[in-house]
Amino acid sequence: MQDLGGKSVILRTYQATVETELFDDVFVVTDDEIIFKEIESNGGKAIMSQKEHECGSDRIAEAVAPMDVDIVVNVQGDEPFTSRKALEQVLSVFNGPDADKIDLASLMTEIHDWKEISDPNCVKVIVDKENFALYFSRSPIPYPRDKNASVQYYKHKGIYAFRKASLMDFYRLPMRSLEAAEKIECIRYLEYGKNIKMAISNTQGIEIDTPEDLVRANKVLKETQQKSVNHQYRNFPMVPKVVYGAGSFDQLTSIIGSQRKDKAPFIFLVDDVFTENTALTDRIQLRFNDKLLFISADEEPKTSQVDQIVAAIKKEFTYVPSGIIGIGGGTILDLAKAVSIMLANKGSAADYQGWDLVPHKAVYHVGIPTISGTGSEVSRTTVLTGPVKKLGINSDFTPFDQVILDPELTQGVPKNQWFYTGMDCFIHCVESLNGTFLNEFSKSYGEKAYDICLEIFLHQELSEEEARGKLMMASWHGGMSIAYSQVGVAHAMSYGLSYVLGTKHGLGNCIVFNHLEEFYPTDVALFKEMVAKHDIHIPQGLCNNLSETEMETMIDIALGLVPLWENALGEDWEQKMSRDRLRSLYLKM
Ligand code: NAD
Ligand code: ZN
Repeated sequence: MQDLGGKSVILRTYQATVETELFDDVFVVTDDEIIFKEIESNGGKAIMSQKEHECGSDRIAEAVAPMDVDIVVNVQGDEPFTSRKALEQVLSVFNGPDADKIDLASLMTEIHDWKEISDPNCVKVIVDKENFALYFSRSPIPYPRDKNASVQYYKHKGIYAFRKASLMDFYRLPMRSLEAAEKIECIRYLEYGKNIKMAISNTQGIEIDTPEDLVRANKVLKETQQKSVNHQYRNFPMVPKVVYGAGSFDQLTSIIGSQRKDKAPFIFLVDDVFTENTALTDRIQLRFNDKLLFISADEEPKTSQVDQIVAAIKKEFTYVPSGIIGIGGGTILDLAKAVSIMLANKGSAADYQGWDLVPHKAVYHVGIPTISGTGSEVSRTTVLTGPVKKLGINSDFTPFDQVILDPELTQGVPKNQWFYTGMDCFIHCVESLNGTFLNEFSKSYGEKAYDICLEIFLHQELSEEEARGKLMMASWHGGMSIAYSQVGVAHAMSYGLSYVLGTKHGLGNCIVFNHLEEFYPTDVALFKEMVAKHDIHIPQGLCNNLSETEMETMIDIALGLVPLWENALGEDWEQKMSRDRLRSLYLKM
């Protein structure tokens, strides 16, 4: 009942356990009226038990006896910082190959500090080679007679997962002497010959056993609360490694070599435009069980397509791949990012469309653009069309671990496509530079990319080689610019077109941007000059024959992209952009 940052320790522990979403139900079992009331009056579930239990497990056994459950996890009431990860780890042993042998499971953490090893408040555990517990003790075990023998000490963490049957088996078994001497509950199971499987968890929680622990816990809590309040400035990951230069593609094999894990293949996702032209694929050195998959960029990536690729990889390979290498335009790069995320996360890619929904780090992934403009190679998002929305998986785990920027790879891009994708970059800059989210970070990247785009598409007569190198960098800078701000009207509307009509991103942006004078007057004029200079055809009248439902869906999809509108038109954007206004804009296109 001690106070921890304004709530009792038991209430915090209860709420943290509920919030893991790992359990069908969570109860506090107690023989104490005050604790019972504390939980119930705060909307939780509590169960009163008899007074005379000798240990927590007996108390839990009494509580679950009438329940229909398979696995019961005992979270100690004094562990408010119990993490989801630790609970997942203790549950995971029941999916292992030796699950049948396990009566109960618990956790242990590596410890190294002799002060901790010799502290009797810290319970140590030793295990056999399969991580079944041999013994628990408050003494240092093993005793380090040979100071040079290398031995890992483990501290026991008070989290248990029982099969209900074994919990009931032990209910009220009399305490024996070892347990009585050490005052460590789980020794009883060993004394009765049961198998305790230990999982290693190195996430550091704070247990509250002493008043000093409570002081420490209050401090930690304060720090984490401050951290979550201070989210005014976003903390962005960047691509940690990048190679630039004509011909740099040949470094791929040596770059990924250090990431190769035994028996785990690299999967290359390559734009199928390179099926015939083997000049590129001949330079990819497949080793061992590496696999190259040609992927069509005819349609932009869908969540269902990501799920299919992931399922096929999981079916073919026992080991999680060493890495995913995406080689192509924005379509293939986004697909590669999404596949690498979904190889490490459960469910469907559609579950993670949105901001910061991905819990686990993606597998190593490398991006190699073969056309420039989208900035996907540097961005924190992967744009996917799902069953109900077109929205990116925007997360800290999305950006590539490695990018290879080789301008030579963009040589074969057809002219129209070069223009459409290049204009994606130009529009990123315009939308970022004219948005309300603009700041110096975005501005410094956006202005540079904007200037390079005008150099390439409007002002200067560059050699093709020069233009390729410059556009590749404009794409990167444009992507960096929107990373710390947002896109705007053209992107919101082009997502609508793409969702309903399948219009591709670059082209869709051009179709829309051509009619956005009221929002971006100078830049739309420049855009029209560029279209004329390169003699590019921009389709017209796309929305003339839409059914009412299609038009409504298009409007729904576009208006659903709230941050884009907020960036473009300010916080009161809803007053400025009505459904009718949007409809009439679409009809102009
Ligand atoms: P794309 O990947 O669809 O490629 C366009 C066409 O060019 C395809 O037909 C492709 O086969 C072909 N192509 C690619 N490289 C070629 C080469 N070297 N030679 C000949 N042909 C080549 O188009 P894109 O414009 O690069 O990407 C659009 C996608 O990017 C969309 O799905 C969009 O949502 C996404 N996007 C993502 C981000 C992001 O931050 N993640 C940003 C903008 C756009
Ligand atoms: Zn774009």
